[in-house]
Amino acid sequence: MINIFFSPVENSITIKKETIWALSRLGIKTIRDLVFYKPASYQIKDINPNLSELQDGQLIQTKVTIEKILPRANSRVPLKVIAGNDTGSVTVVFFNKIPPFIYSRLREGTEHIISGKIQLFDYHFQISHPEFILQKSLESAYEPIYPLTYGLINKQLYGYIIHAMDFIEKQWVLQAKNLQPEISQYVNELIEDLKILHLYKSNIATKDIKPMWEKVIKKLATAELFANQASLLKVRRQKHIKNGRIFVKASGLQENILAKLGFTLTPSQLEVIKEIEAEQKLSVQMMRLLQGDVGSGKTLVALLTMLNVAATGSQCCLMAPTDLLANQHYQFFANVLEGSGIKCELLTGKTSAKNRAMLTQELEKGETLILIGTHALFQEKVNFKDLAYVVIDEQHRFGVEQRLALINKASHPDVLIMTATPIPRSLTLTMFGDMAVSKLIGKPKDRLPITTTVNPLSKLPDIIHAVNKKLVKGEGVYWVCPLISEEEMQKNKNLQGVYPRFLELQNIYPGTVEMLHGKMNNIQRDSTMQRFKSGEIRILVATTIIEVGIDVPEATLIVIENAEHFGLAQLHQLRGRVGRGSLQSHCIMLYNPTGLSATARERLNIMHGSNDGFYIAEKDLMLRGSGEIIGTKQSGEPEFFFADLARDMEILITAHKSAETLEFSEFINWQIELFARKDHEVIKSG
Ligand code: ADP
Ligand code: MG
Repeated sequence: MINIFFSPVENSITIKKETIWALSRLGIKTIRDLVFYKPASYQIKDINPNLSELQDGQLIQTKVTIEKILPRANSRVPLKVIAGNDTGSVTVVFFNKIPPFIYSRLREGTEHIISGKIQLFDYHFQISHPEFILQKSLESAYEPIYPLTYGLINKQLYGYIIHAMDFIEKQWVLQAKNLQPEISQYVNELIEDLKILHLYKSNIATKDIKPMWEKVIKKLATAELFANQASLLKVRRQKHIKNGRIFVKASGLQENILAKLGFTLTPSQLEVIKEIEAEQKLSVQMMRLLQGDVGSGKTLVALLTMLNVAATGSQCCLMAPTDLLANQHYQFFANVLEGSGIKCELLTGKTSAKNRAMLTQELEKGETLILIGTHALFQEKVNFKDLAYVVIDEQHRFGVEQRLALINKASHPDVLIMTATPIPRSLTLTMFGDMAVSKLIGKPKDRLPITTTVNPLSKLPDIIHAVNKKLVKGEGVYWVCPLISEEEMQKNKNLQGVYPRFLELQNIYPGTVEMLHGKMNNIQRDSTMQRFKSGEIRILVATTIIEVGIDVPEATLIVIENAEHFGLAQLHQLRGRVGRGSLQSHCIMLYNPTGLSATARERLNIMHGSNDGFYIAEKDLMLRGSGEIIGTKQSGEPEFFFADLARDMEILITAHKSAETLEFSEFINWQIELFARKDHEVIKSG
């Protein structure tokens, strides 16, 4: 029997085809999605207020008689109507387009129920284009207001939600009979909460609405987070049953490589490598998240732990989000591994068909031991002889499905996910549940902290001048702008484009400036990047395309224009492009004071005050709310119906703890399914 909550909307309530599309844009496909759709707020109306005591902004619904229709010169002038009752009167205004069915009702002496928002205009209270309430039954003092999309108005959506509630009320009684009492009681309570949420058949006094809503949302969020944690635990229990591979530390290899590089591992690198090796040795599949601030040396950790696997003849792969990064990793690996007997190759979308054929053959034969690449790695034709260790760099760029496609190329490989966007604990818990987390703290020795300054746009000439100080020392400069062309700047008046800035800088520092942006093709981009790396060019004017992972130790200044435009995570990533060598680095953030919002100001303050990525990530979560955290929306990580990770951290931790000792039963599975979104299901199948 199909769970009635998952009954498709179009089969369950009367609805137009176009509206089905509008609903699906909101992620609503089933009855469950409709009744779980959370109102953003409630509109409270004053019913029959005293019309002589109105206030600006007040929402009212009242019975009035049309007292006078004011004459107007022509139909382009707004039509004004005086309407009132024994408490006073109000002006009703209609601008040029008056729907005919309303126009026909506007007769002096007729009575109507109207509803709308009071505005103070020219010392008079007025309502423009009020709603005419025709059916008595629609009268209610308050209405939930839902987030909308085009093609759908609030009244319509609310109507569907009410119908969905009707459907559930009717059908649930039938379904509940066949279910365990535990389950039916759970759902009964849930339905009661949903009734309050949507003000369905409920008569709550106006003043009680807010506290009631908060209480119900909290209850629903608790149920949701519990289901989330239970589902992740379920995956993890299944994983443990699967056997992992056993790899012991390869003697001498790591030492050779470090000697070749002239590096001493940081205490934190040492510790993380130990943690990984402890799991490589076990027969349990490793699922580990390596969080490390930009420049903390994650790549080296990946390389050194790969050696343990490659030394036995098993294969490893490293997946990076862009060609540029895959290339950079490859150059580093190939250089370091030269003469070690460990064959390392690069596979990206740009690899020629001929090379690709050769490469895949070597891979199938097990000759290539370390494969570095981009999305190209999870193409069907790429087969490994014995893939045992998968490392994914900068994972927030990849969705759950892409991640799984790669992991599924091997049977139970160890997986290390490296991220430079520090993910707060609340998010790792909901994304991975109990996934083990390693943290790289601090930077390799002799790194000086980056100095950050925040300046209004008026300081631009000084800053252009200051660039010279870096150039005379032979160091490199990133200059970041949010837009590319002048054309784009005309549409976004307050933002700077790469191209005009490039022209200006080139004028002052001829022969040393280049551009890097998304409208260039890969070949142009790579060659520009190479020339910047080699010092042939010194100033790189770029969009945020340089955001992730680029490693140029000689670059010591980053200027971020329109810093107010970027999110915290992005600003932190950008700043991390400098401070990668032993030289003192600087970050100059320029903001446009026009229309600077309070949150934008707060973001700049946070950046100015801290270099600590974890601190910045927590602040980011608080400022933006969890759904907005960079990457999570695009990559299909869980979004919640009711929970808000910025607000519900405590509930989440409690849910996590109570899930730890859980016995799975039909009842628990029911809860998991009820709250599961599609992306959760993908995680489950992994
Ligand atoms: P992340 O990927 O964490 O942002 P990288 O792995 O790119 O950082 O490391 C940043 C830079 O520091 C690279 O040039 C890398 O070679 C160098 N590095 C890494 N570990 C060490 C170390 N222990 N000593 C000196 N330099 C290091
Ligand atoms: Mg990196």
